[in-house]
Amino acid sequence: MKPAAFDYHAPRTLQEALSLLHEHQDEAKVLAGGQSLVPAMNFRLARPAVLVDIAQVPGLDRIEVDDPDSAMIGARVRHLDLEHNSIGGPLGLLLARTGRWVGHYPIRVRGTFGGSLAHADPAAEWCALACALDAEIHCRNTNGSRVVGAREFFEQMAFTTCLEPDEMLVGARLPRLGDSWRVGMAEFARRWGDFAIVLAVVAVECDGDSITGARVALGGVAGGPVRATNAEAALSGRAATAETVAAAAAVAAEEVDPTGDIHGSADYRRDLVRTMVTRALDQALA
Ligand SMILES: Cc1cc2nc3c(=O)[nH]c(=O)nc-3n(C[C@H](O)[C@H](O)[C@H](O)COP(=O)(O)OP(=O)(O)OC[C@H]3O[C@@H](n4cnc5c(N)ncnc54)[C@H](O)[C@@H]3O)c2cc1C
Repeated sequence: MKPAAFDYHAPRTLQEALSLLHEHQDEAKVLAGGQSLVPAMNFRLARPAVLVDIAQVPGLDRIEVDDPDSAMIGARVRHLDLEHNSIGGPLGLLLARTGRWVGHYPIRVRGTFGGSLAHADPAAEWCALACALDAEIHCRNTNGSRVVGAREFFEQMAFTTCLEPDEMLVGARLPRLGDSWRVGMAEFARRWGDFAIVLAVVAVECDGDSITGARVALGGVAGGPVRATNAEAALSGRAATAETVAAAAAVAAEEVDPTGDIHGSADYRRDLVRTMVTRALDQALA
């Protein structure tokens, strides 16, 4: 299949890219790694009249770690660069543990962090991670910039975010998480590299054997990534034991409301939530 005809632009500055988006609005699409957009164009599911390729826009491919409390991940940072990041600490570990699940190797070489967030697939690993860590998502247009929390950025309709047609996602700031944090990620897909049927990303703050804070995000159970806030409450203030993990995983399975599709029924997904949350918490607390 070949895409419908389009005009191609390869701006060399951010301002130039933003001006093109401003000029063409709904007619234009940002082209990042192309791993979702190009297949959609080939299937004629997307027919942008104008592509704004951001491959040559400087500065978007950086991971900035100057701030001791957070890391700024540029929109064009590749999945593979996050899988093999040198950030260190719990954030670096969580990015590595999560990145290895994103598609196949060739997709991880080309696909980008920002592209994944903007595409907002309900089963995308980075979207769940951003939701778990309350990422601050940085958006720009010709009028200026705004920062949106991950939970506001993703709308609970598949492939939908609060980005305006003329806005570009330029990066996301993630908390580096202190040494008291433990992190884990678990996913179930039919084959390695496939999109998840269900995935869980967790971060748990511990004081000795006690859990003092918890973040649990799920993918594949709703139109966007969701936080399992009841499960988080079931972890906080409890001892870090197998019983606590089992109880929290059961709560997570109860609080989601998945729909069934060709990949699995609603009950099957609910059961997978229990298993994935258990595995992610076990990995974190091991
Ligand atoms: C076979 C296959 C398997 C895959 N498996 C997985 C998987 O398991 N998990 C997973 O998460 N993904 C998976 N993907 C998708 C892959 O991760 C993509 O790389 C990702 O979804 C989109 O990133 P991209 O850089 O390729 O974006 P593109 O394809 O270039 O763009 C995707 C969308 O985001 C918009 N966009 C891109 N960048 C920006 C920006 N900076 N600002 C505003 N809008 C922007 C584009 O306009 C487009 O609408 C798979 C893809 C394939 C083909």
